Amino acid sequence: MSDEHATEAEEEYLQVLFWLFEAQLPMTAANVARAMQLSAPTVHEMVGRLERDGYITRDADKSIGFTEDGREHAEQIVSRHRLIERFLTDVVGVPWDDVHEEAEKLEHAMSPRFEAYVRSSVSDATTCPHGHPIIPGRRIEGVPLADVEEGAKVTILRFENEAEDLLHYLKRAGLEPGLQGTVARADDEEVVVSDNGAEHAVTASVAETVSVIADPSPPPRTALPDQLVLGRDRYGR
Ligand SMILES: [Zn+2]
Ligand SMILES: [Zn+2]
Repeated sequence: MSDEHATEAEEEYLQVLFWLFEAQLPMTAANVARAMQLSAPTVHEMVGRLERDGYITRDADKSIGFTEDGREHAEQIVSRHRLIERFLTDVVGVPWDDVHEEAEKLEHAMSPRFEAYVRSSVSDATTCPHGHPIIPGRRIEGVPLADVEEGAKVTILRFENEAEDLLHYLKRAGLEPGLQGTVARADDEEVVVSDNGAEHAVTASVAETVSVIADPSPPPRTALPDQLVLGRDRYGR
């Protein structure tokens, strides 16, 4: 069984596994490899290590599950990541499309004491700046913006993919979590959301990665893993 010290690499993998779990995507080595843009042998080796260290179990069909210990570690690191992002935007003043990569580094280097200070400095926040719940399990289900019909009212809930180039794109388009508007146009090429006369256009494939609450709402659908890998970067947590 594991002791209390997951390595930095193990923390990264646990975080990606939790992200798959949360998005209801299958927890498999293949999806981890896709998410982290790593080769299958590299991922295979690390998955073996996570199993030996008592963080995950593997079924005969190769699907991965968390042990209690693994789930706890994964939730801790995911929560810390989102907390740091919120701290960087609200306290430090870093633009929200720049905080993910910074948080990736800081999340492994923070002492429990400093984490407590950070937590109290943003104690009112419930989500990261991209809409993901700081306390895992408090995720509000949404639907992909790409599925919403023209004329529907939408509230932007979350950016499912935090790849940096994608966040820059969304920022330039003027979309952000909490924004309320109407779907002015939607076709195979692009989706346009308008609010108070301003129009925000994104490609249909990017609209796949934007979760919204819509009225009228299309039926719920889990995004396909392929549609969540867009940028050169790893996709987000
Ligand atoms: Zn992030
Ligand atoms: Zn985030």
